Amino acid sequence: MLCIPAVCAGRKQEKLVHIPIMSVDPYWLDLSWSPHPQGGFPKGYISLSHGGDFNLRSPFHTRAIQEVGRIFPGKRFLYCRQEHTKIVRIVAANDEPGQLGDGLLTQEANILLGITVADCLPILLWDPKHQVRGLLHSGWKGTGILEEAVVLMDKMYGTEPKDLHVLLGPCIRSCCYRVDPERGQWFSSQFGEGASRIRNGVYYVDLIQANQTIAESLGIRSIEVVEGCTYCDTRFHSYRREGPSNFQRMLVLF
Ligand SMILES: [Zn+2]
Repeated sequence: MLCIPAVCAGRKQEKLVHIPIMSVDPYWLDLSWSPHPQGGFPKGYISLSHGGDFNLRSPFHTRAIQEVGRIFPGKRFLYCRQEHTKIVRIVAANDEPGQLGDGLLTQEANILLGITVADCLPILLWDPKHQVRGLLHSGWKGTGILEEAVVLMDKMYGTEPKDLHVLLGPCIRSCCYRVDPERGQWFSSQFGEGASRIRNGVYYVDLIQANQTIAESLGIRSIEVVEGCTYCDTRFHSYRREGPSNFQRMLVLF
């Protein structure tokens, strides 16, 4: 089934570049910014059938760690114990992986950041001026973690929003993210009118729109959206489509 494009009322299209996801190998998709005149943008990846599964006691499955070692030999791999929080951690090479949080920031080129998603939105951040990368896990409950990250980047590195590049990855989109009216109304009240939509009397949450609104309100000018709804594009894993006992998490690397 193909994804039905969401209604884009009020969306500032001129700020956005929609880029197709390109395969790097059968099990990983490229999550990258579109070519930029200055170049040098770091690349991100999202796993498909391999790599993303984990349980809460041992945050990443052995398979994921092996895959990371194969694709990025010699990199220090750091990830967090995700609980849909808005906690963002600054990490350095001597830090232990698996600490509580849903966002990671680093200035160290040799660190590979990892999160897992299964319908939630992965957000990649890049400040080329201070060479800072960020990777966030943002579902409906954690929406707003983007603001936490941007405030922390300013405080710790002097990142200015105008210099920051944001990439919003595949997630469950507003074509499929049906919620109860209470959640839909609450989401719009927090993150602006387009953050949830009503179709045929049913509320749908739009994580992309909510995060675009947050990013624009912070003064971020470079926002790219990677197409792909994890629910209706079956290349992806989806908590909602596969169900609570069968779903697999996809690993996002940056
Ligand atoms: Zn969809």
